[in-house]
Amino acid sequence: MPGLIERYMDRLPFSVGDPIITLDEGSTPLVHAPRLSARVGAEVWLKLEGANPTGSFKDRGMTCAVSAAVRDGAQAVICASTGNTAAALAAYAARAGIRGVVIVPEGKIAMGKLAQALMHGAQVVAINGNFDRALELVRTVAARHPIALVNSVNDFRIEGQKTAAYEIAEALGELDALCIPVGNAGNITAYWRGFGELGVRPRMFGFQAAGAAPLVRGAPVAAPETIASAIRIGKPARWEQAMDAMTASHGGVHAVSDEQILAAYAFLAREEGVFCEPASAASVAGLIAHGAGGARRVACVLTGHGLKDPDTALAHVGGVIPCAPELAMIERVILG
Ligand SMILES: *Cc1c(COP(=O)(O)O)cnc(C)c1O
Repeated sequence: MPGLIERYMDRLPFSVGDPIITLDEGSTPLVHAPRLSARVGAEVWLKLEGANPTGSFKDRGMTCAVSAAVRDGAQAVICASTGNTAAALAAYAARAGIRGVVIVPEGKIAMGKLAQALMHGAQVVAINGNFDRALELVRTVAARHPIALVNSVNDFRIEGQKTAAYEIAEALGELDALCIPVGNAGNITAYWRGFGELGVRPRMFGFQAAGAAPLVRGAPVAAPETIASAIRIGKPARWEQAMDAMTASHGGVHAVSDEQILAAYAFLAREEGVFCEPASAASVAGLIAHGAGGARRVACVLTGHGLKDPDTALAHVGGVIPCAPELAMIERVILG
């Protein structure tokens, strides 16, 4: 499949002849989840956004944001990131042949994401502060210098990410509810816009980690904390738009604990064969814990791939079984 700008150009702010920076993102699998469906008493599908080129939905927004930056003559792009935006920025900046700069909270980035950003040649700056502080800083830098800001405060990001809603609506036709993790709240904003353009109105259920749940509490969280590093955000930039989506659609916003997130993460891997990262599992943890308002047909967005964060995976599963390279020993181990 071609990239999403080419697929949906008539519904995106691009025209034929514009420079398009793409890795053929989008067109991700939407798989039915039989065991999860049985568990929650609804028909549930999983949108596997980890199947995007850099392993998260951020690629949808980044193809648009970087293409627009190149069209505007930008020589550099910058973002604050909990990891996946950094990985996507780095890849698309490399593809465009422009400079990429990312500011991340020191020590709070999953290993795979850091490896991606560095491999793609971005400048990675780690601050002794959280994501919210990093976003304040890059907003100021972008205002003072000719560097394009490509966080989801940039509307091109939302435009690109809304295409995931198109894909779900095209595949399922009818949809009663969407479950989605919420961090900076750009993605839920994007889905609601995408559905709205099609006249589809699923109930929108946003889920935040309990230690980073400003929308649930109704106030910013100064020191957000959760194992789900991609949604460790205390002051979402798209706060009002996210609340609008959930209110207007008769959905809601709820918190899930790290324990609930890790349980859903393990359930998806073992029972559905789907390995997502912890933040992604918040959507399923939320569906299991809070339901989706009695919805019959539900889509859960699994925002990023499990391989992004091997440390969390390995810390929560049993170890390998050491064995001598002998048939008898192997048989004893596997046959008991
Ligand atoms: C960015 C991200 C989120 C949160 O998306 P927002 O648009 O910030 O709400 C959730 N999960 C993963 C894996 C992410 O990378």
